[in-house]
Amino acid sequence: MIDCQAALDAVYAEIRPQIGDGKVADYIPALARVPAAQFGMAVCTVDGQQYGVGAAATPFSIQSLSKVLGLTLALQQIGAAVWDQVGREPSGDPFNSLIQLEHEHGKPRNPFINAGAIGVADLLCSAFADPRQALLQLAQRLCGDAVAFDAEVAASERQAGFRNAALANFMKSFGRIGNDVDAVLDVYFHQCALALSCTQLARAFAYLANKGVQPLSGDTIVTPRQARRVNALMLTCGTYDAAGEFAFLIGLPCKSGVGGGIVAIVPEQMAICVWSPGLDDTGNSVVGRRALELFVTQIGVSVF
Ligand code: GLU
Repeated sequence: MIDCQAALDAVYAEIRPQIGDGKVADYIPALARVPAAQFGMAVCTVDGQQYGVGAAATPFSIQSLSKVLGLTLALQQIGAAVWDQVGREPSGDPFNSLIQLEHEHGKPRNPFINAGAIGVADLLCSAFADPRQALLQLAQRLCGDAVAFDAEVAASERQAGFRNAALANFMKSFGRIGNDVDAVLDVYFHQCALALSCTQLARAFAYLANKGVQPLSGDTIVTPRQARRVNALMLTCGTYDAAGEFAFLIGLPCKSGVGGGIVAIVPEQMAICVWSPGLDDTGNSVVGRRALELFVTQIGVSVF
């Protein structure tokens, strides 16, 4: 029997002197103002137990963690047709790179790089009259709380989102974006600007540890096969071009965001969320990654 709270407490004690390491994302002005010296971590198990430490209840900008929610919503609506729009291979390039798109005729490598998530947002624009509302509803259904977009972060992303606009327009030039580019970007910027805490995110992602079923509500979110596939993509593509390093050091499906959050899935056991805003040069939380490494070593889990 794993004592998750004791393991979280031990990790927190060990990591405490390092809190503040890394550099907050400064290419989105609203994120540049977030103090780096913050840390929270939470666990939700498949039998519904919840644990937390530090600032586990503090909401933060989930950024790319939302790419898993966008993909989940698209899989619910259109199933395997998602793969006509985005591929399933790691990119090995930075999350916001344009280079591969030229060679690959505007089809993004996977749904977890920016181009791929913008492609998924396009699918959501086609599938829903109000895709932003559909994303909010999914997030609420997954974490069981009322949640909201951080309007300031969404506006800041839009104002500074030159690269994402370039990606979307470039894909449109290949005929890969069916909807109006501004409408697609609006959905993408808002999903990135969802504000959730580690506790909420651990609950929200627990369906991926539980064969597609949210453990607290018993709701079926995706099929067991879809859950397996999302986990596979998180392992291979979830942490930008550091996915190999994450597999090596942590050995679990993970998804990170430039707000400093990382979610990790222990299949059939639990979802873990850690948050600390200082990033390394691959865009992953420095202290978050170290804390995850310590935690999985302490409790002895890995998919390998
Ligand atoms: N909203 C961020 C961007 O589009 C997401 C990046 C991330 O978290 O990886 O640049």
